[in-house]
Amino acid sequence: MNFVSTRGNVTKIGFIDTVLMGLANDGGLLVPEKIPQISADKLEAMSELTYQELAFEIFSYYVDGEIPDNELKALIEKSYATFRHPEVTPVKKVKDNMFVLELFHGPTFAFKDIALQFLGNLYSYVSKKTGETIHILGATSGDTGASAIEGVRGKEGIRICILHPHGKVSKVQELQMTTVDDKSVLNLAIKGTFDDGQRIIKELFADMNVKNKYHLRAINSINFVRILAQTVYYFYAYFQVKKELELQSVNFSVPTGNFGDIFAGYLAKKMGLPVGNLIVATNENNILEGFIRDGVYEPGEFRSTYSPSMDIQVASNFERYLYYLLGEDSKAVSDLMEKFQSEGKIVVSEEQLRQVKVDFAAHGVEGEECLQTISKYYDETSYLLDPHTACGVAAYERCNDSSEVCVTLATAHPAKFNESVERCNIQQTFPEQISQLFNKPQYLEVVEADKDEVVRHLETLFRFTAN
Ligand SMILES: *Cc1c(COP(=O)(O)O)cnc(C)c1O
Repeated sequence: MNFVSTRGNVTKIGFIDTVLMGLANDGGLLVPEKIPQISADKLEAMSELTYQELAFEIFSYYVDGEIPDNELKALIEKSYATFRHPEVTPVKKVKDNMFVLELFHGPTFAFKDIALQFLGNLYSYVSKKTGETIHILGATSGDTGASAIEGVRGKEGIRICILHPHGKVSKVQELQMTTVDDKSVLNLAIKGTFDDGQRIIKELFADMNVKNKYHLRAINSINFVRILAQTVYYFYAYFQVKKELELQSVNFSVPTGNFGDIFAGYLAKKMGLPVGNLIVATNENNILEGFIRDGVYEPGEFRSTYSPSMDIQVASNFERYLYYLLGEDSKAVSDLMEKFQSEGKIVVSEEQLRQVKVDFAAHGVEGEECLQTISKYYDETSYLLDPHTACGVAAYERCNDSSEVCVTLATAHPAKFNESVERCNIQQTFPEQISQLFNKPQYLEVVEADKDEVVRHLETLFRFTAN
C-alpha cells in the first residue's frame, strides 16, 4: 500500500518508509493513498478473532507484505505479551447502554501503550534489518513519554529524547518517565506547555538538515502507525458489544487531545466498521468542540485541568481529518494550513460544517463536571474513572441518544491521576508497579522551550551514546 502526504508534496512511499518518515517531509501528515474497505462478510469472519489475530488482519492491509507474515505476527505477539489482561483491551458494561473499553492494561497504565509497545518493537526490527541507529524525538503531555520510553528501553540501536511540560504532568506520569536509569534515554522538562513541545519537534522534523543529520524518528501520533494500531480496538470493542446486544452500530465517546485516538475511530469507520456517532470529549481546552459547533478552529488560551493529557490546544491529527473533509484535495489542505499559520484560525464552509456535524458530536467538559462524573459513577456503579475517561463519560451523557449504545474509551488507569481522584474524596490503592516508583531517583533536565537548546541536548545524547 502507498501512503501520501495531506499536503501533496511527498512522492508515494510504502509502510515502513511511512513509519520512518513520521511527519511528512512537506510538513503534512501521511495518510493511506486509498483506505482499505472491509466487507460485511469479512467483518463477520473477524468477529471471533483474539485481539492479536485481529491486529494482524488489520495491520496486514497497510503493511501489505513489507514485513513477512510470520515476522509481523511475532511483533504483534511480543507487543501485547506485556499487557496484564489476556484480552488486551477488555470491554466492561457500566450501564445498560454504555460500555467502557479499558485501554490501560499495558506497562504504563494508559492507552498509548497499545501503539507504542508495537512501535518500539517495530523500530527495533527495522534497526536490526538495516543496522541504522534509531534516534527518537517526541513531545508528551504526560502519557506518550512514559509509554514510548517503556516501549524502547533496553532495546539495542535506539536512543530516545522526550520533551514534557515542566510541572504540568501528574506525579505518576513524571515518575514513570524520569525514573528510568538508562543512558539512551533523555528527559527534557521544558519551561512551557505541551503545545510548545509539539511545536519544537514539528519544527525540527520539518528542518531537513536536522532530521537527516540525526535520523530523527517520531513516536507522536503524527506517526501513522500510532493511528493504525489504535483502529484495532474499535473493531475489537464493536465485536464484543455485538455479542451481548443486537445492534446495527455503536457510538464511541473518545477523550481527545491531539485528535489521534478519535481519528483512529474515524478511520475504522471509513474502513467499514459500523460506527454511529463519534463523540469528541475534551476538557476546558475545547477548540475542537468550538470547531464542531461553529466550523471555526481557533486555538485559544492554554488551560491546566484535571485531565492533563488532554491539555492541548493545537491538535496535530486534525489535519488528517481536514484532508478527508476537503475531499482528499491536498492543494486545498496546503492552502488552509498556510492560512492557519498566518491567521491563526481555520474556518470551513457551511456545507463542510454540515459534514463535520455528521462525522462528530462534541462536548467540552468543565473541571467540576469531570470530578462530579468520577464521584457519581463511583457511587452508583463502584467503577472508578480516571479524569480523562470521566470527560468521555460526561460527553456520552450529553451527546448519546438513550436508544443508542455507546462505548467510552477508558484511556488511563485512575492511579495515574490521583491528584484529581483525591479531590473527589476517593481513596484508591495503587497497583504495585505504580507505588514502587515513589522511591526511585529521577533523571531529567529542565530547559527553556527553545529549539536550539533542545538541539544542543540532542547532540550530547546522540554523541554520548553513539559509542
Ligand atoms: C493522550 C491521551 C489522550 C488524548 O489522546 P489523543 O490521541 O491525543 O487525542 C486522552 N487521555 C489520555 C489518558 C491520554 O494519555
